[in-house]
Amino acid sequence: MKIAVQKYGGTSLATPELRSRVCDIIADAINDDYRVVVVVSAIGRQNDPYATDTFINLVKQVNPNPSPREMDLIMSCGEMISGIVLSNHLCARGIASTFLTGEQSGLVTDGNYGNAHILYINPQNIMRCLEAGLVPVVAGFQGVGENGELTTLGRGGSDTTASALGVALNADYIDIFTDVDGIMTADPRIVDDARLIDNITYNEICQMAREGAKVVHPRAIEIAMQRGIPLRVRSTFSDSPGTLVRNRIDSKNDVVSIIRDMLITGITHSSDIAQIKIDIAKLQYPRGIQLNIFKAMAEAGISVDFINVQPELIMFTVADEQAEQAELILKNIDIFPVIEFNCAKVAVVGAAMTGIPGVMARVVEALDQYDIPILQSGDSYTNIWCLVKKDHMKLAVKALHDQFELGKK
Ligand code: ADP
Ligand code: MG
Repeated sequence: MKIAVQKYGGTSLATPELRSRVCDIIADAINDDYRVVVVVSAIGRQNDPYATDTFINLVKQVNPNPSPREMDLIMSCGEMISGIVLSNHLCARGIASTFLTGEQSGLVTDGNYGNAHILYINPQNIMRCLEAGLVPVVAGFQGVGENGELTTLGRGGSDTTASALGVALNADYIDIFTDVDGIMTADPRIVDDARLIDNITYNEICQMAREGAKVVHPRAIEIAMQRGIPLRVRSTFSDSPGTLVRNRIDSKNDVVSIIRDMLITGITHSSDIAQIKIDIAKLQYPRGIQLNIFKAMAEAGISVDFINVQPELIMFTVADEQAEQAELILKNIDIFPVIEFNCAKVAVVGAAMTGIPGVMARVVEALDQYDIPILQSGDSYTNIWCLVKKDHMKLAVKALHDQFELGKK
């Protein structure tokens, strides 16, 4: 039995016309002899009537601090609504279909509200649907803890649902349908000449996704990679072939083709970051100060990133929305930090850049050209990142994209 798991994002399901197009795509796969499992996100985005944010606001209007349990229940409604609608749309088109919640799909999580991890999947129910010739439409982003409580999977959760089902069913493909042509060399909403990447390794896209390319969630890639299930990122809106994510060596049909990691895969960005700088040289009792700072942040549940500790200076970043709380906590232990709100991180990502000289020089040159100050920078084997002001972010992404000649030829 050939199985394809297809995930549709919120914008792909926003109107009856689009849902009709989604039915066409599903019908095409069935005509190609695939048994199709569909995973859906909630319909639409912010303020749309059935979007997750809308439901959250509805509850928060009456109680600003709902319990995590109730939050997860309300946050899971959007996927239920869109799944039931799409399943009925399929039935009305003569394609037998049934809707399944995360629990009914056998998706069991560690039970953590808001950001649950999938522990395992019992695919029997879905298999029964497939054997009966039904298209199961599964609510993404949700699963059930071993205690029977509904939990949501955090950001990009529907991507993760699709990937986990793909692995559990040993699918031939996991298809992530979205509102762009595939994985591009940069966010096409920022860079006009961003180029479609037709082939990419799990490793490369994972780096891009971790650095902020939100087109597919890194957890979804990691799960697909475990079993080497090919993952495609495709457009609901066009017939573009999309991006095929797979291992470097693809030995299907006795043909062994090797794709190399690219020197530079693409440019990523993420925003809403605040930088916190503490001048230790100025402090009266600097002994043990480093420990105190990071302990205080941890105790307040504030996640810190881009940590840079030097003898006279400590720098790190937090989410913009947590910066004021961080400042208050530091002041309480007599530390007066300098805070740079509204920053963004831009990164040059490339799994093959290790040991290639001159990449940093080109990064600095690109940003220098447009007088974009670098507030902080860092690197790993697979990327070089710079912190810039959010106002400079788009220009920085474009400058780097040009510098590394990633655009359409
Ligand atoms: P969905 O609702 O379908 O899950 P998302 O908004 O999560 O869609 O992801 C798709 C968006 O990812 C695109 O609209 C695009 O703006 C953004 N994006 C960011 N970086 C990239 C990239 N490198 N390639 C393609 N899209 C990207
Ligand atoms: Mg998404």
